[in-house]
Amino acid sequence: VTRPRVALVTGANKGIGRAVARQLGERGMRVYLGARDEERGRTAERELREGGLDARCLRLDVTDESTVGLAAKRIEEESGRLDVLVNNAGVGSSSHVPSRTSADEVRQTFETNVFGVVTVINALLPLLRRSDAGRIVNISSMLGSLTALADDRDPTGALPPGSLPPPTGYSTSKAALNALTVLYARELHEDGILVNAACPGFVATDINGGQGHLTPDQGARIPVLLATLPEGGRTATFIGSDGSPAGVE
Ligand code: NDP
Repeated sequence: VTRPRVALVTGANKGIGRAVARQLGERGMRVYLGARDEERGRTAERELREGGLDARCLRLDVTDESTVGLAAKRIEEESGRLDVLVNNAGVGSSSHVPSRTSADEVRQTFETNVFGVVTVINALLPLLRRSDAGRIVNISSMLGSLTALADDRDPTGALPPGSLPPPTGYSTSKAALNALTVLYARELHEDGILVNAACPGFVATDINGGQGHLTPDQGARIPVLLATLPEGGRTATFIGSDGSPAGVE
């Protein structure tokens, strides 16, 4: 009997995370739905289970190390290993003018989007190392692409035309996440763990007040491809929303 692959998606109670979790479940994986609000997590779990998927809600606040540790413990007890980790949990930030952005606002954004990812990866790494094909996907943003930010033209289509410049805390947190992606990929290469980052595109979710033009299911497409890469697939890459998925499919 082949054992199901085991996945954990952080921030999976709604938005892109829930869509990624559903699509991984539809590929036959057992999916842990990380949710800091257990009630909302249960609602997502119920919905996915009604569709016949092996979805399991897990209380997990990426900024709270104790919940991350307990989550790792439960996955170990129930499943013995982890094959796929999708770091999706993220928060936005409001100030668009760097010189008027407080360090506290930047710090707040980094707590979830950067430090939370480090906490989660490090806690789950022992379980990922037990996989014969570990995959880590970091949900990043074109707003964290230094190349896109340095370009005078509209950076990327990640923001609608005529919108404000990129928010300072958010953009810098995603740039740091992209750097972490490359560093973890280098370290974990010898364990066969592939680590990549992707921008889902501009997706209608709560983070942008529903303004995005893609559905969560469309936004989940590239992250899911990266979560299911074959052996020898790409690692240490960032796929932007305008980027071609060539080489992924
Ligand atoms: P949502 O606001 O719909 O979802 C964000 C998710 O992250 C929620 O489930 C939220 O949980 C969770 N979350 C936030 N903080 C924490 C925390 N400390 N611990 C655990 N979970 C947490 O937005 P999206 O679905 O759009 O965002 C998902 C990811 O996609 C983010 O990383 C975002 O930066 C990225 N992204 C989104 C884009 C878009 O256009 N939508 C574009 C580029 C990137 P809760 O319900 O408890 O708040």
